[in-house]
Amino acid sequence: MALIVQKYGGSSVADADHIRNVARRITRAREAGNDVVVVVSAMGDTTDDLISLAQQLVERPDEREMDVLLSTGEIVSSTLLAMTLKSMECSALSLTGLQAGIHTDGIYSKAHITGIEPLRVVEELKKGNVVIVAGFQGVNPNMDTTTLGRGGSDTTAVALAISLGADVCEIYTDVEGVYSADPRVVTEAVKLSKIGYEEMLELATYGAKVMAPRAVELGQVYDMPILVASSSSAAPGTLICKEASMELRNKVSGIAHDTNVAKITVWAVPNHPGMAREIFVPLARANVSVDTIVQNVGGDDVTDVTFTVARTDVVKAMSIVEPVARTIGAARVTADETLGKVSIIGTGMQNTPGYAARMFNALAESNINIELITTSEIRITCIVSESRLTDAVRALHRAFDVEFRQSE
Ligand code: ADP
Ligand code: ASP
Ligand code: MG
Repeated sequence: MALIVQKYGGSSVADADHIRNVARRITRAREAGNDVVVVVSAMGDTTDDLISLAQQLVERPDEREMDVLLSTGEIVSSTLLAMTLKSMECSALSLTGLQAGIHTDGIYSKAHITGIEPLRVVEELKKGNVVIVAGFQGVNPNMDTTTLGRGGSDTTAVALAISLGADVCEIYTDVEGVYSADPRVVTEAVKLSKIGYEEMLELATYGAKVMAPRAVELGQVYDMPILVASSSSAAPGTLICKEASMELRNKVSGIAHDTNVAKITVWAVPNHPGMAREIFVPLARANVSVDTIVQNVGGDDVTDVTFTVARTDVVKAMSIVEPVARTIGAARVTADETLGKVSIIGTGMQNTPGYAARMFNALAESNINIELITTSEIRITCIVSESRLTDAVRALHRAFDVEFRQSE
């Protein structure tokens, strides 16, 4: 008998029929003799709908109230699933993040899990219940509700699996696993049977929203195997686990893309020591994470500083950087929200020259202009116009096609 944590995403619990389907799958796992803990997301587009409702009333809604509001989405789906299971003679109960003992820090909308005390979960499992936990939420040290960032139910699931010592964490979604690129953009994308944590983390961080990055990071640190599979078919999914063999590694495992990117440029910054600190320390204090940073030395002892942030953070970032720019004597600050980023990712790329050249060649042949370039040891990212982003993903998938097929 195994202890399994299963997570069902928003589209898998989008309506009554989908919830019934999920309930049937859970009863099958239970009948096979497993203890089952289930984490659910909010139904369908509930989270987006709640955000837009709040924004119809208030331009920048209060962060504390916003987190309580958004947490209700997952409470709705967890209760509906629990009552459906009970109606199928499968004993079950729903728990909120608080009841499941999920503790977080105090950063509203992007809280980090600081610890889990799953006493109630363990108690209910012992009583023979399937425990349905509302994903994406926890409580801060003041016992106020927090949420874990978009896609945060994945993080709830992996963190719970770790704290319960589960055998596996299964993430059920609307695709059959992790593909070499978003299968909704590249129809020829290849399903990967296995992928290492490191590559999956990079894919997720750079836009592959099939897994939340923090969930992968936790899986990697605690070595929790994560299976990504479809909630509507029995097709084998993708196992995210330790890299199987150094020799078998693909050079390029996948392509990620993301439209949640904005470029901010601070023009004519005096070229003195300390200027980067003046700009980036206040951003860090406000929890705005900065990705690519480019600084060019121009003439007249001034330099332009360009960096990217998530598009969802651009208003906050501009409100911080504009006054700083005035204080340090920079000319002006501009934001560009018409960009996207595309990345090729693979642990095998390190120490193998030529990958950047192949990437730039594929983009050039499709006449796609590169705005900024950033790299890590296992990733090359190009920032391009959002209007050419899907063309870029498809062109790169064609260029590296042979390598993806090796993993089939
Ligand atoms: P859920 O609601 O189940 O959490 P998400 O919408 O968050 O589902 O994630 C699943 C989606 O991730 C897929 O529908 C797919 O469009 C997208 N996706 C992006 N990149 C990939 C990839 N490399 N492999 C699989 N799916 C991907
Ligand atoms: N409902 C939240 C979101 O839409 C969390 C999740 O689905 O994982 O981001
Ligand atoms: Mg998701």
